[in-house]
Amino acid sequence: MTDAVIAGTGPAGLMSAWRMADHGLDITVLEKRAKETDSLMGELVTDKALRFLRVQPTSEYIGNKYTSIVGESLDTGSNIVVDRSLLGNSYLLDEDKCQELMRERAEADGAEFRFNSRVSSVIKENGIVSGVKYGGGDTVKAPLTVGADGSFSRVSETAGFTHPKWLLSYGYRFKLAGCKNIDPKVAYFYVGKDVGLGYLWMYPRSETEVNLGIGRVPSSVEEWNKLPPMKDVLRKYMRTHDETKDAKIVAVNGGVVPCAGIIPRFTDAGVALCGNSAGQVSSIVGGGVTTCFHAGIMLAKHAKRMVDEDDFSAKSVKKYEKEYLSSKLAYNITQTGKGMWAVSKYAMFNDPIAAAEIVLDELDAKTLNELIQGTAGVSTYMALFSNFLPMVLKIGMGYMKAIAVSGL
Ligand SMILES: Cc1cc2nc3c(=O)[nH]c(=O)nc-3n(C[C@H](O)[C@H](O)[C@H](O)COP(=O)(O)OP(=O)(O)OC[C@H]3O[C@@H](n4cnc5c(N)ncnc54)[C@H](O)[C@@H]3O)c2cc1C
Repeated sequence: MTDAVIAGTGPAGLMSAWRMADHGLDITVLEKRAKETDSLMGELVTDKALRFLRVQPTSEYIGNKYTSIVGESLDTGSNIVVDRSLLGNSYLLDEDKCQELMRERAEADGAEFRFNSRVSSVIKENGIVSGVKYGGGDTVKAPLTVGADGSFSRVSETAGFTHPKWLLSYGYRFKLAGCKNIDPKVAYFYVGKDVGLGYLWMYPRSETEVNLGIGRVPSSVEEWNKLPPMKDVLRKYMRTHDETKDAKIVAVNGGVVPCAGIIPRFTDAGVALCGNSAGQVSSIVGGGVTTCFHAGIMLAKHAKRMVDEDDFSAKSVKKYEKEYLSSKLAYNITQTGKGMWAVSKYAMFNDPIAAAEIVLDELDAKTLNELIQGTAGVSTYMALFSNFLPMVLKIGMGYMKAIAVSGL
């Protein structure tokens, strides 16, 4: 019997574990893989993630820092350059070192990690979750069970949480070595017909090493089947760019990220979800590292309260859900989740890449930033409206068509 059992050692599970142990709780962490670094954690983050992780930008946990980010069309080459004065700092985490750091900090505070331990279901007593079954029939009993076991969470499914409709982004990544003439201070995001509804990214690790990835949301099975496989899109990028033509693929991995917003309910008596399992991911970009850290820290604070009050009732656990939903990050996830649904519906019947091309051609970085930060004035909106009238009309008509055809 421990205070809490956590399923999963992604960023959500590791952050929850570290902070719960830091609060003095007795916890057990179960991970189906052989070690925490076997799974992908995600890597491009801003200052906020470093603050949550309590690491310095100059420390060994940071693999690289970018001074600008370029958004580019693979089809036409039109692009937009955003520098750090507009978007703030962007860092590439050293994923493995960051995961090890969180595990070591949790262990130093007494957390127990059991690897090769796949959770099969939660245990319920009188309808209340009281631990998990794992491996070949082992159990861990705890008054609080945390499902940080990713997009296809067993904890979520067996505890009875429902996902109204999951909009998933499928991601695939190569780590490349032996590249040439890479500017290590510039990260790239690409859109294009082959990419589909999503983006391809190129994050340099050094002058000769980059991470090349692609994330794509299927708007419909038919649309998905028309697109080339994601691996082929990455290989084509490598072939057609001098910098990566002769590079070697040194690692391949991937995963799935929910991008339709937070699920309606993610707590109940004795159980709480954290991270991808609860849809706590920035919907438009599919960024989950910072949002998982944020949720894990908040959950740990509430776990400490529950232990102190010896109250793991549905009402008590729900206080985590309530505080989480009132946070700014949760608000952003919900809003961008709605946007993502609209975009995917639009994409079923129209060409979102054509719209993205117009944006890349017309929009400058300063205006883009004003729109993201919500600081754009009336004159900016007026100018945009006239510049983008053809696009607004095109998207508006396309969206109406999507609504008419899908009946939603
Ligand atoms: C290709 C790709 C690139 C990405 N890049 C970025 C990025 O640059 N920046 C960013 O912010 N985000 C990025 N993300 C998103 C980010 O990686 C995820 O949102 C984040 O990892 C979610 O964390 P999590 O802890 O909730 O789940 P996961 O990272 O999925 O971790 C879940 C853990 O649970 C374990 N598990 C699963 N089932 C069980 C079970 N039954 N029993 C025990 N253990 C189990 C898994 O092995 C895994 O270790 C990327 C995602 C992908 C796919």
